[in-house]
Amino acid sequence: MKASDILALVRPNIAALTPYSTARDEYQGALGIFLDANESPYPTGYNRYPDPHQKELKRRIGEIKGVDPARIFIGNGSDEAIDLVFRVFCRPGVDNAVAITPSYGMYKVAAAINDVALREVRLEEDFSLPAERLLAACDTHTRLMFLCSPNNPTGNAFGRDELLALADRFSGMLVVDEAYIDFSSIPSLRTQIAAHPNIIVLQTLSKAWGMAALRVGLAFADPLVISLMSQVKYPYNIGQKTQETVLEALSSPIDARVAEIVSERARVAEALRGMPVVLKLWPSEANFLLVRFPDADAMYEKLLAEGIIVRNRNRVPGCEGCLRITIGTPEENDRLIETLIQSKP
Ligand SMILES: *Cc1c(COP(=O)(O)O)cnc(C)c1O
Repeated sequence: MKASDILALVRPNIAALTPYSTARDEYQGALGIFLDANESPYPTGYNRYPDPHQKELKRRIGEIKGVDPARIFIGNGSDEAIDLVFRVFCRPGVDNAVAITPSYGMYKVAAAINDVALREVRLEEDFSLPAERLLAACDTHTRLMFLCSPNNPTGNAFGRDELLALADRFSGMLVVDEAYIDFSSIPSLRTQIAAHPNIIVLQTLSKAWGMAALRVGLAFADPLVISLMSQVKYPYNIGQKTQETVLEALSSPIDARVAEIVSERARVAEALRGMPVVLKLWPSEANFLLVRFPDADAMYEKLLAEGIIVRNRNRVPGCEGCLRITIGTPEENDRLIETLIQSKP
């Protein structure tokens, strides 16, 4: 798809939108007597409205990620970006979206909230990408396709070339959720968005960056897509304190922590592989392992009794018998391994 084809996919009311113009849009100087935004003049540390465009933060994230700030959207978690792509591209009750399953639950919830039908396509038995079935599920009203890579909860990542080939054959916007990309050996697709304008890459500061409580999600896409998402978002979606805190936190590299999680992932997997109580363990490109037990509910309760809380995926179609276990600190992982060793199948 060419960048000039994107506009035809946008909801007509959004394409025609006159966005809210904030006081900060109309005057951008830093010094002066600010009597334009009905703020309190008394300094509390946060009496002024924050930058609605998060320019500093985008500049810094652009440096770290090697992406032009015009191609970056910052949201209140990835969840805001997921909701916005529905609001920008899908006419409620008319258009539809396609997603893989099992995958992240928010695509379905955001689709339902926006009154958009979500067509779920089961991954192959080995969790690989069902490219032909995904394309076969599309019709002329399919505006979005959601792929999560590495995928939650299965842990596998899809190949870069198969994702790009799918993007080129799809006539809507392909949303690739890379929440776990920092833990993966597969390169991010964010470097491919200029060559493939119908790709929207989602990332987050909630996982590898350790800022889940701050609520910062990122989208990398064509500048037109970023501009549409920015017009539809709440003007001040990222608070001043969050912008400052994130800017500060981005100066501490995460490489050592990510490397420890990745090496712990290998150590925990190795320990689990030999256990009679483990029926199946999938390779993981993320910071969790998907593990099948003979009785997942009983194992969930057993771990809970030991104070270890994992995610029970037993009732998720395709993940029957499975628990999703996040990789913790080496000490936390030791506790998990000891508890599992003491369990009988
Ligand atoms: C955890 C997770 C996110 C992160 O969501 P935030 O709203 O940014 O915290 C996004 N996508 C997937 C698949 C996840 O598992």
